[in-house]
Amino acid sequence: MKNILRAAFVLVALAAVATAQTNPDWHAQFPAFKIAGNLYYVGTADLAVYLIRTPQGNILINSDFAEDVPTVRRSIEQLGFTYSDTKIVLISHAHGDHDEGVGQIQKDTGARVMVMEGDVAEVQSTAQGRPGAKVDRTLHDGDTVELGGSTLVAHLTPGHTRGCTTWAMQVEEGGKKLNAVIIGSPNVNQGYILAGNKDYPTIAQDYEKTFKVLKSLPVDLFLGAHGAYFGLKAKYERMKAGGPNPFIDPAGYRAYVNERESAFRNEWEKQKQGKP
Ligand SMILES: [Zn+2]
Repeated sequence: MKNILRAAFVLVALAAVATAQTNPDWHAQFPAFKIAGNLYYVGTADLAVYLIRTPQGNILINSDFAEDVPTVRRSIEQLGFTYSDTKIVLISHAHGDHDEGVGQIQKDTGARVMVMEGDVAEVQSTAQGRPGAKVDRTLHDGDTVELGGSTLVAHLTPGHTRGCTTWAMQVEEGGKKLNAVIIGSPNVNQGYILAGNKDYPTIAQDYEKTFKVLKSLPVDLFLGAHGAYFGLKAKYERMKAGGPNPFIDPAGYRAYVNERESAFRNEWEKQKQGKP
């Protein structure tokens, strides 16, 4: 029964991916730009990839799909940086739109791959659409990743996947310290079972923990695994026009987290009542 449920779940997940792959923003090149301090955006028009530049090489958060790796590489080079300076690769969570290219980047650059415990098996898997990367370091809630004077904190925000990770770091801009938060994912995908999930019994409690964590973090720069979470395109346009940094948006962050929490609670309630 467990295997049947798992197979059904995988089919639903694959269908969701197939639908979402029609989103043209997923594979479209987006101008690479500095967000603040040593934190840069090198992702596509929706699939976020972050680069943290340090004197000892760079950290990447997310790879996007394997087919997007050349696009990410072009973005890194647009900034005048060197792809082979990638020393560490991290992920938001183990779904193909964020991690499928991790194995390729590891092969190309020799970067060390560090992944939250609950997502390690998925990242190491060589199944279709999985990165087949070697995880060099297994992370746990609250662990830090350090390189060249930069420190990132891995906050476990599970539910969307078991090892879903929200990354936090401080960057310095104009003599001011800014708290950047990169949300792993607060979303309940279509087909996710919140009530009576035999394969992942604690999924709903994990989402509850995630919202508690997200609400507890100090935030200046509101970022996430998809550009759509934080309004990448509109904010990028505002940034080009000048004025205050539009990515500094704690109010937008709070509104987003609250809206996502209600969506989760509504879905959970619906499932508990046995509604389709
Ligand atoms: Zn996902």
